[in-house]
Amino acid sequence: DRTALIAGNWKMNLDHLQAIALVQKLAWSLKDAKHDFGEAEVAVFPPFTDLRSVQTLLAADKLSLVLGAQDVSPHEAGAYTGDVSASMLAKLEVRYVLVGHSERRHGHGESDELVGKKALAAHRAGMVPMICVGETAEDLEQHGAAAIPLAQLTAALAELPADAEFVVAYEPVWAIGSGQAATPEQAEEVARALREALRDLRDDERAAATRILYGGSVASQNVAGFLRQPNVDGALVGGASLKAEEFSRIVQFK
Ligand code: 13P
Repeated sequence: DRTALIAGNWKMNLDHLQAIALVQKLAWSLKDAKHDFGEAEVAVFPPFTDLRSVQTLLAADKLSLVLGAQDVSPHEAGAYTGDVSASMLAKLEVRYVLVGHSERRHGHGESDELVGKKALAAHRAGMVPMICVGETAEDLEQHGAAAIPLAQLTAALAELPADAEFVVAYEPVWAIGSGQAATPEQAEEVARALREALRDLRDDERAAATRILYGGSVASQNVAGFLRQPNVDGALVGGASLKAEEFSRIVQFK
């Protein structure tokens, strides 16, 4: 089932009070628009400190938003100061967990192997890892668009059991926060290569059922172009997910 998935990664923005305000505004604009949540699954990825507040709000208002987390420890529990475990996230009804976001790979030196182990921790706790892959501008010049994302996906999946569900987010690093999104054709080309690789890394069925999102400067003006591509099943939105009206326009991409 490749129901479109629109995911808002808030990164390190919004304290828990601002988070509550944003989710309430978002709920209102989607209600006003009579948005049919059957058309697209909508997920928000707040900072850890906001998760409990947002979860309470979603449960109380029966909003059909889904909760995601931005990172997870590869370890189950113990002496890991500052880390947050998968079971802690699962207890807050977190469904998706970002692993391997480029800001973690580059800002925190996360290796492919660590990304895979984090994906495994999320899976073991009953959540769905959203494996982020993407090439830098330099990679693009040297290896073309697909080589690095393919290698990153292969490495992460080596750590995950064959039957584990996951989502792939293709985010070219040069497109993140730059206002310079990839073209829909560029996104499609890499998404198609990733799906093709999934047939070998997993099987035809998993390749056909796995959602592949595009991320990198997605906004209400360009989202429809990505979602029209046959192999792009959603969007991972950063900056534009922080504004309720803009994000609700993105959600209603059709
Ligand atoms: P922007 O939408 O701000 O470019 O960020 C994309 C991103 O990194 C989402 O994870």
